Amino acid sequence: MSSGSGKKPSTRLVAAGRRQEWTGSVVNPPVWRGSTHLYADSADLRRGRPNRDGEFYYGRRGSPTQWALADALTGLEPGAAGTLLFPSGVAAIAGSLLAVLNSGDVLLMTDNAYEPSRTMARSLLDPLGIETRFFDPLDVQGFASHFCDRTKAVLLESPGSLTMEICDVPALTAVAREKGAISLIDNTWASPLGFPALQQGCDVSIMSLTKHVGGHSDLMMGSVAATTTVYNRLRLTSQALGQVVSPDDAALALRGLRTLSLRLERETVSAIAIAEWLSRRPEVARVLCPMLPDSPGHDLWRRDFTGGCGLFSFVLRGSEEQARARFIDSLELFGIGYSWGGYESLVIPFEAGRIRTAMAAPGGLGVRLSIGLEDPADLIADLEQAFAAMERA
Ligand SMILES: *Cc1c(COP(=O)(O)O)cnc(C)c1O
Repeated sequence: MSSGSGKKPSTRLVAAGRRQEWTGSVVNPPVWRGSTHLYADSADLRRGRPNRDGEFYYGRRGSPTQWALADALTGLEPGAAGTLLFPSGVAAIAGSLLAVLNSGDVLLMTDNAYEPSRTMARSLLDPLGIETRFFDPLDVQGFASHFCDRTKAVLLESPGSLTMEICDVPALTAVAREKGAISLIDNTWASPLGFPALQQGCDVSIMSLTKHVGGHSDLMMGSVAATTTVYNRLRLTSQALGQVVSPDDAALALRGLRTLSLRLERETVSAIAIAEWLSRRPEVARVLCPMLPDSPGHDLWRRDFTGGCGLFSFVLRGSEEQARARFIDSLELFGIGYSWGGYESLVIPFEAGRIRTAMAAPGGLGVRLSIGLEDPADLIADLEQAFAAMERA
């Protein structure tokens, strides 16, 4: 059976990564554990193994279980030459940056990047002599002025973490290309189902598979898909760093992948309903959700994205931190916890605003929601009783 390229994503997800030589007659690629290939004799050893993608050489280079997952992800990402797997999303970001940057280079990072990406600038890149400069992701006009002849890469995220701002990826990557810089994007929010990043001008598309692809809050993993221009550099760096994921986790991620489009569709519908409800609440100053009509970034989301997910934020009207804590602590269906994209709804507080550059909208007490697979009417009822508890102080 073919993986059905040319078919719609939900169809392709069903058989993605299933190759006769890896799965035999079984529906799912078996969990193929192993570190060592045994050679027949000394002559066989001297001839060596080909060490090609897709042929077992040594466990660190993966086995059919990991290859099936990588192959499936490549099939979902239009324009990808291949996909590399990392033990976490953060490892995928770090591995990508190390592959495209050298000492003396400058990285431009969006000022709404995921916090550990920002930390990486200081703790990983700076000691290597790689300088990071932050830019306002919404200032398309001013973007070119940030480049110098040492600028070698741009790290984007759309929507950005917490602020949920959508940037004009095709416009920004066009500038980067003209300046000779590589564009990387943290595409965890949309996944390639919602945002075909390489088609939209990026060279590298990074995902935390811990979120939507795993989808069940039981595994950590990251992936990097790239165009032919940079794929080989990424592969060599990943191999030099010794990055490998366990076949058990790869099998779990493949299982999550089968229901990815179904879960994303349901979470998107629920999130939009809940965001709309929140936007009418007196306790809420602003809903930060590009899927919501009339919200900032909605036009770009409509233009560039083919889907959404359950993650968005809002800012409370009041400024009393204890009131926000009362609201969060009163929620019964939302777990308090980091991560997102799982089947269960989660909530986390944050301080709205960017760090280096100014946002048009004022900051305030933020609340981030990850909408899961519960019935949205129950989630709205839960939010409603938590607002009542917040006001009861
Ligand atoms: C969670 C997250 C990551 C990191 O993923 P881990 O698998 O937790 O390391 C990267 N980017 C974004 C936007 C995330 O939310």
